[in-house]
Amino acid sequence: MIITIANQKGGVGKTTTAVNISAALAFMGKRTLLVDTDPQAHSTISCLAEPDRYEKSLYDVMMNSRDKLESVIHPSTVPGLDIAIAKVSMAKLEASLTGEIDAHYRLKDVIEPVKKKYEVILIDTPPTLGLITVNALVAATHLLVPIQSSYLSLEGTDDLLETVEKIRKVANPHLQIIGVLITLHDQRTNISKDVVDRISRVFGNRVFKTVISKSVKLEESPAYKESIFTYAGGSIGAVQYRKVTEEILRRAKN
Ligand code: ADP
Ligand code: MG
Repeated sequence: MIITIANQKGGVGKTTTAVNISAALAFMGKRTLLVDTDPQAHSTISCLAEPDRYEKSLYDVMMNSRDKLESVIHPSTVPGLDIAIAKVSMAKLEASLTGEIDAHYRLKDVIEPVKKKYEVILIDTPPTLGLITVNALVAATHLLVPIQSSYLSLEGTDDLLETVEKIRKVANPHLQIIGVLITLHDQRTNISKDVVDRISRVFGNRVFKTVISKSVKLEESPAYKESIFTYAGGSIGAVQYRKVTEEILRRAKN
């Protein structure tokens, strides 16, 4: 299973979700790889001890067929979790790939040889619907869409769904939406229930039952290069990310 986490809005919890669901899977004993495709490299920075020690990143592998994905996969600070690292050089990818016939297929192709090594591969994406996110959608079996629990949070999801439709038509007919995850939820605000209702009306039963609350612990844990499960194992964020991971595994079976 290859799950791309995408939403072209920034700050909706993509990276937090990618890191903590990968960590939950690793803790459950699943062989898990997190692939960071974002030039901002937030996943890489949040769970790799010394990212500057490494020279090469996913960019080199996607641009140069002699570089294999294994060469940019490192053990993360989360026990049992491997990460394929991004660097700021990823920002050049779009320009570098323009005009290449297989521009949309590069990530799929580089993942192919390591696919069997992992039970689950998660792909974190940048806040755009550009070539990097398209590569991630072409490479995926499933899409997970985090949506922030806030007013206007549904703005732009039409564009994402349109992109998914196009990708299904031309490149990846079996791409499935595994679920929509409501993030950064604040029960104390009056509009929050209204927002959840609106998201549920649009996405129906594709919305995960588990909602991720706003929690300081989730915000703090990346600074210590820890997932929520070791940083604050009993916190609400840990409970919720574990629960949504269980929902994912149940949905993947059906
Ligand atoms: P994205 O990858 O979509 O840009 P991030 O996961 O980086 O979003 O989240 C944006 C910011 O919000 C980060 O500072 C992150 O630590 C914080 N954050 C994400 N989810 C939560 C949450 N549930 N509670 C509190 N802070 C959160
Ligand atoms: Mg991010």
